Amino acid sequence: MQFIDLKKQQSRIRKMIEDNIMNVLNHGRYIMGPEINELEEKLAEFAGTKHCVACSSGTDALLMPLLAWGIGAGDAVFTTPFTFIATAEVISLAGATPVFVDIDEDTYNIDPEKLEQAIEKVKAEGKLNPKAIIPVDIFGLPADYDRIIPIAEKYDLLILEDAAQSFGANYNSKKTGSFGDAAATSFFPAKPLACYGDGGAIFTNNDELKELLLSVRVHGQGKNKYSNDRIGINGRIDSIQAAILLAKLTIFDDEIEKRNKVAKKYSEKLKDNLVVPYIPEGSISAWAQYSVLANDSKHRDELMNALKQENIPSAIYYPIPLHLQKAFANLGYEKGDMPVSEDIGSKVFSLPMHPYLTDEEIDMIASILAK
Ligand SMILES: *Cc1c(COP(=O)(O)O)cnc(C)c1O
Repeated sequence: MQFIDLKKQQSRIRKMIEDNIMNVLNHGRYIMGPEINELEEKLAEFAGTKHCVACSSGTDALLMPLLAWGIGAGDAVFTTPFTFIATAEVISLAGATPVFVDIDEDTYNIDPEKLEQAIEKVKAEGKLNPKAIIPVDIFGLPADYDRIIPIAEKYDLLILEDAAQSFGANYNSKKTGSFGDAAATSFFPAKPLACYGDGGAIFTNNDELKELLLSVRVHGQGKNKYSNDRIGINGRIDSIQAAILLAKLTIFDDEIEKRNKVAKKYSEKLKDNLVVPYIPEGSISAWAQYSVLANDSKHRDELMNALKQENIPSAIYYPIPLHLQKAFANLGYEKGDMPVSEDIGSKVFSLPMHPYLTDEEIDMIASILAK
């Protein structure tokens, strides 16, 4: 069994993927070919935003809005420590300071109450300027935007939604990618909508930001290639990856439905033995991961070992919360500072999850875990 089975998906649309790649080989516009514009239009329509700017990775999709907004030295950007390193890494890359805010114990997303406390604390200390919030839709579940947006408005902060794991999810009938001032997603092969390499996209309704992002994407270019108005990056997505995504997008809605069926079945089978994912009313997850809680880290080791014996892969996202990573040692956080993230990190593990997981496979995993 595979943790994420990309072969079943490929066999479903192999011809379309081949045709789309062939088109790129025939026209030869490997950089900024016509597939990129087409993809951006389709993605913006899917997410329900005015603009989409496709780019080289989810990491760059997070970095580019920060650069476009001019966020840098002396600025505080609030985010969660229970996420992939890229979420906070880009804050440091931009020259700003990540301020970690602990998570909600049920959703594992940023805790709005603690967010407001953290903003107040930074303001009271007076060393950093609060500038932005990066809420993460962890495991595919949208963060609590109804509570986060009013806080951003109250303190005049920008919101950059990290939708790297949640593209295709819903929050109160709105698609992820449409929350905040900008949103970033990733098309890394393990994400819900994925290419065969690296890729990402930024979403916004703001015309001015869109123009800035187009400039940042190509070395801060001005009117032409050799006039440079600002510091940017090489943030382009390849035409071939856009061509692959165009094929995958045709079955994406169906795949999200299938992921939700798999998750529902998992939860029915597992809920008596483990803590299964909590999905608040009004939310639909994109199920980048299906993650459960064991009683403690020893219990988790036992369960993961039992699965391994039967050749069933599982994984821990995320064993070390970001505030305890060596890369952020300069920020001065200590063990105990983010108790919920630390506690969840010691119990959580993720099971195989993809749209093509069969009922038999789910039954088998559930029965091993029940023993
Ligand atoms: C995967 C991921 C990213 C980074 O995306 P890449 O395409 O790998 O650069 C950022 N944030 C979160 C939450 C992710 O899961």
